[in-house]
Amino acid sequence: RDIRELLKAGEPTFSFEFFPPKTDEGLRKLWQVIRQIEALAPSFVSVTYGAGGGTRDLTVEITEQLQTDTTLLPVAHFCAVNHSVSELRHLIGRFASVGVNNILALRGDPPGDPLGEWVKHPEGLEYADELVRLIKELGDFSVGVAAFPYKHPRSPDIESDTKYLVQKCRAGADYAITQMFFDPEDYLRLRDRVAAAGCDTPIIPEIMPVVKYSTIGMSEQLSGAPFPRHLAAEFDKVADDPESVRKLGIEQAQRMCERLLDEGAPGIHFITFNQSTATREIYEQVAYDRLPATAGARP
Ligand code: FAD
Repeated sequence: RDIRELLKAGEPTFSFEFFPPKTDEGLRKLWQVIRQIEALAPSFVSVTYGAGGGTRDLTVEITEQLQTDTTLLPVAHFCAVNHSVSELRHLIGRFASVGVNNILALRGDPPGDPLGEWVKHPEGLEYADELVRLIKELGDFSVGVAAFPYKHPRSPDIESDTKYLVQKCRAGADYAITQMFFDPEDYLRLRDRVAAAGCDTPIIPEIMPVVKYSTIGMSEQLSGAPFPRHLAAEFDKVADDPESVRKLGIEQAQRMCERLLDEGAPGIHFITFNQSTATREIYEQVAYDRLPATAGARP
């Protein structure tokens, strides 16, 4: 099974993203969430790649365990930063040896300050398109890349950002997943730019529901753009009531997913922060209406 085939099949994909936790307690909690998500039979799940050694190993271990011990289809996030090409080759081989053939190819950020000076590993890679090519050379992998509705912070302008995204796709990427955003128009603009450049690689939108009022203030850091004012105004009215904020966040995210899918987005990728409840509620509302096959998974 691979994401390339799922996307070709034409039904929307629904997927969930986890991160490797730092503590044993966090890991125990993650596996509880994974089992809850498994019961929903999503299209795939992904595990982010940590910045440092320990969490990197854990990403590989969790991804392997998802492949061997669950019915879920795992996608391994995989960053080139601070790896030599021979380490990258070794890790790609390790994924292949346990049957993980879905990889999200990323350049990654410098450890510490993500916007700090980018220094290429002396025997490593410079950009994500090189990692896409390396993975494709090494086997029959389905490879995804990152896309940025508001451009990558290092990109001087939208034009060059689009150009290099298209270059990653032409290097062999089968799909892209976006950074989170809170206004569906921004996803549609990105998709239009890429299409206008002659590229039809599917772009899966990444969604994170607002479940706390403080998220609104962090929008620029999380997504690259301020939170849309008309949506923030709705939250302002219930700011003092955490339960109402959560309810509104779930409703807004649900509306956004519906709009994106109506506009032809190939799927929805949910950020979970290793919690399942909010994204599960949205998934149940959005996916069960669109995917008759998942009705059996309805709790
Ligand atoms: P690139 O595509 O290499 O782009 C980096 C910059 O260089 C951009 O400005 C781009 O326009 C430019 N560029 C690209 N190619 C060229 C070229 N050939 N010549 C000149 N300029 C070029 N980070 C993690 O550490 N772990 C994760 O698990 C993780 N998962 C992510 C998942 C998603 C869906 C997204 C959107 C991001 C994720 N990131 C993750 C963050 C990502 O690693 C950073 O944003 C990183 O800075 C850029 O990675 P990239 O793969 O987009 O890099």
